Amino acid sequence: MSNHYDFLVLGGGSGGIAAAVRAQSYGARVAVVEDHRLGGTCVNVGCVPKKVMWYAASLAHMLDDAGDYGFDLERRGFDWGMLKQSRDDYVARLNGIYAKRLSDCGIADIRGTGRFLDARTVEVNGERLEADRVLIATGGSPSVPDLPGAELGITSDGFFELETCPRRVVMVGSGYIAVELGGMLRALGAEVTFLVRKSRLLREFDQMLSEQLTAAMQANGIQVIAETRVESVSPSAGGGLDVACHDGRSIDGCDVLLWAIGRQPRSDDLGLAAAGVASADDGAVPTDAFQNTNVEGIYAIGDVTGHHMLTPVAIAAGRRLSDRLFGGMADRKLDYTLIPTVIFSHPTIGTVGLTEAEARERYPDEVTIYRTQFNPMYHAFTRHKSKAAMKLITVGAEERIVGCHVFGLGADEMLQGFAVAIRMGATKRDFDDTVAIHPTNAEELVTMR
Ligand SMILES: Cc1cc2nc3c(=O)[nH]c(=O)nc-3n(C[C@H](O)[C@H](O)[C@H](O)COP(=O)(O)OP(=O)(O)OC[C@H]3O[C@@H](n4cnc5c(N)ncnc54)[C@H](O)[C@@H]3O)c2cc1C
Repeated sequence: MSNHYDFLVLGGGSGGIAAAVRAQSYGARVAVVEDHRLGGTCVNVGCVPKKVMWYAASLAHMLDDAGDYGFDLERRGFDWGMLKQSRDDYVARLNGIYAKRLSDCGIADIRGTGRFLDARTVEVNGERLEADRVLIATGGSPSVPDLPGAELGITSDGFFELETCPRRVVMVGSGYIAVELGGMLRALGAEVTFLVRKSRLLREFDQMLSEQLTAAMQANGIQVIAETRVESVSPSAGGGLDVACHDGRSIDGCDVLLWAIGRQPRSDDLGLAAAGVASADDGAVPTDAFQNTNVEGIYAIGDVTGHHMLTPVAIAAGRRLSDRLFGGMADRKLDYTLIPTVIFSHPTIGTVGLTEAEARERYPDEVTIYRTQFNPMYHAFTRHKSKAAMKLITVGAEERIVGCHVFGLGADEMLQGFAVAIRMGATKRDFDDTVAIHPTNAEELVTMR
C-alpha cells in the first residue's frame, strides 16, 4: 500500500510540480519522481538563470548609455564568474524551496529515473511504484545535430556552465533561445556570429519582429549569416574550434559553438511501450485537449507533448488537469489559443496571437493591419539608437484584434495586460477608446491610426 499513489507524476519541473501540488490540495496521495534537480528546465537551465543573465546584459546596455545621460562612469570590467556564482546560489535556493513545498504538502519526493513497467506501474531505482493515474511531465532537452564534431559544441545547458565570457561565439539557430543567448553574450563582451539555416531569425514569429530584431542585433555588432548550414566542427590548430559550412564558408578559432536548433521531448528513457503509450517520431507524447494520452489513466503535459514549450503553459495545463481529475471540474482544460510570450532580446519582444501571414491565410480579405515605428524617448539622448515597432492585426468589420506584436523597450512588461484584453475579445475601437498613459512606449498601442 505504501508504494501506491492516486497520482504519480514523472518529472519535477514546472508542469509536474504544479499538477502535483494542485492534486494534493484536493486530498490526493501524490508522488513526484525527478532524476535531476527539482524545478526542471525553467529553474535550472531555462527561464530563471536566463533572466538573470538578461538583467546583466540590460545593465551593460544601460551603462553604455549612461554617459549620454550625464554620468561620468568608467567601466573596468564584468565579473562573469561572480555573477555565475550568485546565480547558481539563487537557483540552489529555488531547488530547496521546491523540495520544501513538496514536503510541506506531504507529496512524496522520489529521486531517480522513472520507467513504466506497465500502465499502472513505474520503476524507480529498482523499486516498483503503483498508481491509479500517471502523469508524464518529463520535459525536453536541447537538440544537437548528427554531424562530425557536433559534440565539440555546447547547448543552452552548457551556456549556464560557462565560467567566463567566451571571446568568440558561433551561435547556430534562429529561434528565441538563440537570439536571447546570443544577445546576452554580445552585451557582456563576446563577438557573436549567427549561422542561420533559413532566410531569417525568428522565422516562426511575425516578419516585422524578425526584421526589427535582426537590424537591432546587427546594430549591436552581431553578425548574422543566413541560408547556411554547418557541415562539421573540428578543433582549431590555434585553439578553439573551426566551423565549416556547406557553402564553403568557415569560421575558424571560435571559443564556443552553441547549438540552439530546437528542443526534443524527453521520452526515450520512459519505457512508453511497456505502458502502451504512443509517441511521435521526435518523442513527443500526443494528447487530446484534456491532456489524455492514448492510454486511459496516463496523461501528458508540458514540453514532452512537443508544442507550446513555455513554463506557464506547462503549469496551466498541469493545474487544469488536476482540477479535472481530483477537483470535480469535468470540463476543465487549457485553451491553447492566444498564449502571450516574450523574447528576452535587446530590446525585448512581446507577442500574442496570429502573425500577419497566419491571419491573412485564416481570414482572407478580412484583415486590417495597424503598424507603427518610432524612436523611444529614452534613445533621444543616447548615441546608440534602437527603434520600437508595433503591429496590431484585426479581422472583420468590428476589427477584433487577433494579433499584437511589440518590439522595443518595455515590450516584456507591456504585453501581459494587452493579452488579457485581447483574450476578452478587444477590438481596435476598445484600444482607441482607452486613454493613453503618457509618456510611455505602450501608449502607441492605443493611439495607432
Ligand atoms: C534556455 C531556455 C530558456 C527558456 N526561457 C523561457 C522563458 O523565458 N519563459 C518560458 O515560459 N519558458 C522558457 N523556457 C521553456 C521552459 O523552461 C519549459 O517550457 C518548461 O520548463 C517546461 O516545463 P515541463 O514541466 O514540461 O518540463 P521541465 O521543466 O523540463 O521538467 C521536466 C523534468 O522531468 C525530469 N525527467 C525527465 N525524464 C524523467 C524520468 N524518466 N524520470 C524522472 N524525471 C524525469 C527532468 O529532469 C526535468 O526536471 C526556456 C527554456 C530554455 C531551455
